[in-house]
Amino acid sequence: MNILEELNQRKVIISDGALGTMLQAKGLQPGECPELWNITHRSELREIAQSYLLAGSDMISTNSFGGSRIKLSLFGLGDRCIEINQTAAAICREAAGNGKHVAGSIGPTGKILLMGDVTETELFDCFAEQAVALEKGGADVIIIETMSAADEASLAVRAARAVTGCTVIITMTFSTDPDGGYHTMMGVTPEEMVISMKEAGAHIIGSNCGNGIRDMIGIASLIRAMDDEIPVIIQANAGIPELTDGKTLYHESPEIMASRVPDLIKAGVNIIGGCCGTTPAHIKEIAKALGR
Ligand SMILES: [Zn+2]
Repeated sequence: MNILEELNQRKVIISDGALGTMLQAKGLQPGECPELWNITHRSELREIAQSYLLAGSDMISTNSFGGSRIKLSLFGLGDRCIEINQTAAAICREAAGNGKHVAGSIGPTGKILLMGDVTETELFDCFAEQAVALEKGGADVIIIETMSAADEASLAVRAARAVTGCTVIITMTFSTDPDGGYHTMMGVTPEEMVISMKEAGAHIIGSNCGNGIRDMIGIASLIRAMDDEIPVIIQANAGIPELTDGKTLYHESPEIMASRVPDLIKAGVNIIGGCCGTTPAHIKEIAKALGR
């Protein structure tokens, strides 16, 4: 079933938690290309996918956040873009079977249009190439995540809509202003995001990363106030990261996160998952809070 049809039938869909921090736990070294693990560590990735499915995820994301040709080129892997993304999606589809959703993850390229780093056509083509490979590998959803520039995000959404039949999700990352408002690193507010991403053709809009679950409730409410129909997704970090002895630690326990699930639903959220620092244990508690 298409995820949009499923959202019409059930109240809340559960996504998965972090991938990056899980890969580090399995031995990914600083400076290593995480996406190359799709080729070199297939069974580890399959294990992570299975652990999220077992915890209750209805949708799992591919290990392709930095899988655009532009990002892979930093590791000299640009020419393996299609192989890497297709494999990333195939690993998740194998684990998920046909009953669950596979979301092909696309992250920012690191290039800034405003600075003239890249042209609109180059960005569009880059996102299109990645999205096609993810769909070919078995993704039924494309999730464009951690975006902060509206122009780049908009090109990614348009590209994914133009070249795939996938449902397209866009999430941006906000930080909290002293006055309680929210903006991305490039100055976009949640309200501006809703306007520009709907215009670009996004099916589902939300926020990931940057915040623990408490600030996400405020962000979700602002998104919902702009549109009372579009499905909203929230993937919070396990709290604000703290650097201790050179290690990044996340302190929000699965129980703390799950205790906020009723507030997220009240705010109008339809898909709940986690970002950095969240684990299958977080997803399991979220599922429990939803009565699963
Ligand atoms: Zn994150």
